[in-house]
Amino acid sequence: MKKYVMIHDENLCIGCQACSVACRNENDTSDGVYRLQVHAEMKGVFPNLKTNFLRHSCVMCENAPCVEVCPTKASFQTDEGIVLLDESICVSCKYCVLACPYDARYVDPITKNIGKCTFCFTNRVAGGEQPACVTVCPTDALTFGDANDYNSEVSKVIATNSIKYPKSELGTKPKLGFVENKKGGRYE
Ligand code: SF4
Ligand code: SF4
Ligand code: SF4
Repeated sequence: MKKYVMIHDENLCIGCQACSVACRNENDTSDGVYRLQVHAEMKGVFPNLKTNFLRHSCVMCENAPCVEVCPTKASFQTDEGIVLLDESICVSCKYCVLACPYDARYVDPITKNIGKCTFCFTNRVAGGEQPACVTVCPTDALTFGDANDYNSEVSKVIATNSIKYPKSELGTKPKLGFVENKKGGRYE
């Protein structure tokens, strides 16, 4: 069985937001909400400043609070570990929005449906394509693939880097990891 994982290398990320724009285009995201953004975080004291670019999106928890609280099983996980939502049985209770520790879900202002990143599973990955964000990144900061295939690019990135997972202390076991930024803050 495949296990889809995405890694964001913050050392390669330039904060261009091409991934975010591609995501909006691919998923026809309504104005005012987003599935994916890259946030800039300034650290340090002048002149030893450092800018980190942090991806904000669903992290595809293996132990997903949004799935656990859903009373109708509209929020569910595929065998490949992708957390999806079946709108036909969603009753819009918003429990999943409140339960997500990553603030990754939203209520669409137009359709009123619940939205979040899906790793482009149904629209691209299931057909053998990469997620839209990965295909447009100009610096190859994003790597996506099957972590159970030891020859995949994502397995190589995991094997050769120290991968961190956001809020891993919660036990949610995210499948979106990152390589921490080591650039900047070294002015002498
Ligand atoms: S990040 Fe939030 S929306 Fe995504 S799987 Fe985890 S709890 Fe669910
Ligand atoms: S809003 Fe829909 S998907 Fe979310 S917990 Fe309620 S029924 Fe489940
Ligand atoms: S497209 Fe790539 S470099 Fe640009 S913000 Fe997204 S991850 Fe970073």
